[in-house]
Amino acid sequence: MQTAKQEHIMSCSHASSCELYSLMAMEPALNLWKNHFCDGGHEKCARFQLSLSGKMVPLTLLPNGKQLAPRSKAEINASALFNAIQKQRVPMIRSMLKTNINPKSAVTSDGTTPTMAAAAIGNVEILKLLLDKGCNPFSKNKSGETALDIAVRGSHAECETILRNAMSSSSPDEYGQQDVSLPAVGNDEEEDQLTRENVIGFLRKLNPFKN
Ligand code: SF4
Repeated sequence: MQTAKQEHIMSCSHASSCELYSLMAMEPALNLWKNHFCDGGHEKCARFQLSLSGKMVPLTLLPNGKQLAPRSKAEINASALFNAIQKQRVPMIRSMLKTNINPKSAVTSDGTTPTMAAAAIGNVEILKLLLDKGCNPFSKNKSGETALDIAVRGSHAECETILRNAMSSSSPDEYGQQDVSLPAVGNDEEEDQLTRENVIGFLRKLNPFKN
């Protein structure tokens, strides 16, 4: 008879390369897909079945066979950034912030900002990079938590100190209304396409299942 641990090992064999998880980094819906398909019934997954048939699996195919709704460039950029934060890829985050990804416009559907994501994992270096880029430490997620609340809850003392300092040396008004729907780059179509390809390249490199 299998133990719970052995059953867990029996989760989807494609987990180490499945690109869906990069595209939906830190989105709450990701856990639902994971529980329902990857850890609990990968045989039913449309992505799994298509890849067994030898066909190319579209990035946007969901486990239930539907297509992920078209995503804006800002959403794709945000996923790439959240993915890099989750993986604690500091040099990659630094290069993303130098190029075309605006951390101030990145937010998940539950209101998590990059600053909150960095506070949740307790990564001081990433947190400082984001604050230096002007990310708002006063932002709240849909549960009403700030990055400071998240750092305290996770017992990340150093992040807590950095956030307290950032909040005491500024005021919410200084950050204004950061528009999370703004695209991170210009409107030129060719540039947009190039950016999208670059970001998808980032996503592929950053699969959260890979070590
Ligand atoms: S989404 Fe499907 S193919 Fe990807 S890891 Fe989960 S079960 Fe496997």
